[in-house]
Amino acid sequence: MSDESLQEYVISMRRYFHENPELSFQEANTISTIRKELENMGLEVHEVKGGGLYADIQGTEGGKSVALRADMDGLPIIEDTDLPFKSRNHGVMHACGHDAHVAMLLGVAKRALEMKSGFRGKIRLLFQVAEERPPGGAVNLIDAGALKGIDYVLGQHVISSFEAGKVATFRREAMANADEFKIRIIGRGGHGSAPHETVDALVIAAEFVSEAQTIVSRMIDPFLPSVVTFGTFNSGFRYNVIAPTADLTGTVRTFHREVQAKIKSELENVLRHVCAAYGAEYQYEYSEGYPTVLNTPEITEVVDAVAGEHLGKENVLHPNPSMGGEDFAYYLHKVPGTFYFLGVGNAAKGITSPQHSPTYTVDEDALEKGVEILLGSALRLLA
Ligand code: MN
Repeated sequence: MSDESLQEYVISMRRYFHENPELSFQEANTISTIRKELENMGLEVHEVKGGGLYADIQGTEGGKSVALRADMDGLPIIEDTDLPFKSRNHGVMHACGHDAHVAMLLGVAKRALEMKSGFRGKIRLLFQVAEERPPGGAVNLIDAGALKGIDYVLGQHVISSFEAGKVATFRREAMANADEFKIRIIGRGGHGSAPHETVDALVIAAEFVSEAQTIVSRMIDPFLPSVVTFGTFNSGFRYNVIAPTADLTGTVRTFHREVQAKIKSELENVLRHVCAAYGAEYQYEYSEGYPTVLNTPEITEVVDAVAGEHLGKENVLHPNPSMGGEDFAYYLHKVPGTFYFLGVGNAAKGITSPQHSPTYTVDEDALEKGVEILLGSALRLLA
């Protein structure tokens, strides 16, 4: 397959998936489309319980095995673009570029099959459901044994905050541990004219939110990155009624287990004391999300070298880790590997919308490089 037809294939697949996005754990059409493509290439497809599939490309005998992962789910976002292949599934959108991930991994499969006898070992293609929704779909593949006997794993994610023609890699931490909390403060409602007869949940919650800002600023080592964000605050229902309850939700981002444990307990500690001071009660629910994406430095170096050959060394960037979360973390608990970003932004073409936004898109010209870097890194690891 010529470079041109490979690029056409990858772009046409990306557009098909973009036009037909599906939510996490509902990717039936995406799965059957991937399956059909792989079977057309002559590959044997293994579907796994809970959703997801994998297929192997066997090179010549012996050698190592490398797994390459693409996630496939869209997001509950109403697409606001004028693309001719805009989502036909209203309210669902590929706003994180997982359409491009699937398309590039299919491109890797095509390319690798052409050079079947040209490499030793095995490339395993992992197509994963539900990255966007904890507990995530990575566990489906892991539970089905898709990492058994695998020596390395690579994950490539498109990102619009870097320009096409650039790659961003991470020696160790790539993405944060992303947790969620839910809090209810329970006071006693009453008439807005008689506060002394009530326990005002709204005022107590406001104080708690302010007080909780000191957790990161006063209780955590400044050399250990962390974030505590309150995302929602719902309380009260009428201007002259004192709110009986207040509901808060938020997220905690960390890179270290000790910091995560400290924030988890300090949040409740502050909550308990603020509530006690005013005679309120509370409910506190803390759910641990995806763990830190922790890369293997030696494998990041392999991607650096390969990406440098394709893009020029100066276009291989090493930014600070992202505070976002990713269930790619679970693969890295089993097998050494690396997770990195492929730039798909292009200011000249007006492609600047951030991930997860209704106007998100990718510069498709970057996708062929994505195929080459992903496959090239896999082959380097097998060599
Ligand atoms: Mn994503």
